[in-house]
Amino acid sequence: MAGDVLVVAEHLRGELDDVTFELLGMGRELAGQLGGSLIAALIGGSGEMADQLGAADLVVSVGGADMSDFNPESHGAALEAVVDAKSPRAVLVSYTSMGMDLASTLAVKKGMAHAAFGTAVAGGENVTPEGGKRNITATSQLYGGKMDVVSDLGDGPCVVSVLAGSAPADAGRADGPPAAKESLPAPATAGHVRFKRLIEPEAGDVDITAQDVLVAIGRGIGSKDDVEVAEELAEALDAAVAGSRPLIDAGWLPKTRQVGKSGLKVSPKVYLALGISGAPEHIEGMKSAATIIAVNTDEQAPIFNFAHYGMKEDLFDVCEELTEAIEDR
Ligand SMILES: Cc1cc2nc3c(=O)[nH]c(=O)nc-3n(C[C@H](O)[C@H](O)[C@H](O)COP(=O)(O)OP(=O)(O)OC[C@H]3O[C@@H](n4cnc5c(N)ncnc54)[C@H](O)[C@@H]3O)c2cc1C
Repeated sequence: MAGDVLVVAEHLRGELDDVTFELLGMGRELAGQLGGSLIAALIGGSGEMADQLGAADLVVSVGGADMSDFNPESHGAALEAVVDAKSPRAVLVSYTSMGMDLASTLAVKKGMAHAAFGTAVAGGENVTPEGGKRNITATSQLYGGKMDVVSDLGDGPCVVSVLAGSAPADAGRADGPPAAKESLPAPATAGHVRFKRLIEPEAGDVDITAQDVLVAIGRGIGSKDDVEVAEELAEALDAAVAGSRPLIDAGWLPKTRQVGKSGLKVSPKVYLALGISGAPEHIEGMKSAATIIAVNTDEQAPIFNFAHYGMKEDLFDVCEELTEAIEDR
C-alpha cells in the first residue's frame, strides 16, 4: 500500500536480535509520516517470534524451522516475495552481515534506491519544503562516522540498511502480539548456497557487553606489560577490561574485549576510556554508555567531545591513584 514500511526481522539461534526492535521503532515513525502501515517480514522464524513483533501492524512469515539458519539465497528470495506481495514504500534492514546481503540484493533485483550505513530515516511533507510530496530521506554515516550524508530517496520504493544502535530498541517493543499475521510460501531457489554450520566465536572469558563498568584501554597504555595496571584498577572497581582495536591487533587483549565498529557494541553504566583517542570506529561501539569518563594527555583528543567527564592526565597516574583510593576504602 501507498505508505507502507517493511522491516526485516533478524534472528539468530532462535532469538530475535535487538536490532529488529530498533528497526520497528524507526519503521513505526516512518510509517506514520508516510501515512501507511508497519509490516514485519519474518523469514525462517517461529510463531513465538512473530508474537514478539507486536509493534508491527502485520507480520508476514515465510518458511519455518527449515529456514531458521540464514541463507542469502533463500532468505533473499523470501524477502523478494514479501516485497512483491506488499509493495512497501520503504524497506528497513539492519546493516549487519546478514542484512548487508539482503539489502543490496533486494535493491539490485527490484531496482530500488538503497542507502547503506543508515542512522536515521524520515518521510513525509516535513522533508519537502515545496510541500505535498512525501519524499523519503535517509541519513548515513560515512567515513567511519566522520561525515553524515542525507540522501533523498524520492518517493521510494527504497531500501535503507540501518546501523545497529541507531535507535532505541524499546520503541519497537510491544506488550501484545501483532494485530494481523500472514504466511507466504517459501519460493523455490536453485540451491546454489547451502547452510553448512554456524561457526561461533570462541567463548569469551568475559562478556564485555554485559558489564556495568568497563575500564577501556587504548594505545596510550604503551605496552602489553602495562595492561596489568588497568587490570588492577578493573579488579578494584569490580569491572572488566576492554580495549581499542590496536591493542587487540597487537595481541595485548583477546578479540572478545574489542569495542567498536569491528568489535562489540557496549552500553555500560560507566565507560572509563584510558589513552583512547576517540576515533569514529571506536566511538561507534561505546557512545551509548551512560557515563563516559576519558583520560588522555592530549587535550585535543576527540574522545573529549563524547566524554561526560574528562581529565587531561597521564593514565598511569590516574590508575595508580584511583586503585589505591578504592583499595583504601
Ligand atoms: C574499518 C575499520 C574498522 C575499525 N574498527 C575499530 C574498532 O572496532 N575499534 C577500535 O577501537 N578501532 C577500530 N578501528 C581503528 C580506529 O580507526 C583507530 O585507529 C583506533 O580506534 C585508535 O585506537 P587508540 O585510540 O587506542 O589509539 P590512538 O589513536 O593511537 O590513540 C592513543 C591515545 O592515547 C593517548 N595517550 C598516549 N599516552 C598516554 C598516557 N600515558 N596517558 C593518557 N593518554 C595517553 C594519546 O594522546 C592518544 O590520544 C577501525 C578502523 C577501520 C578503518
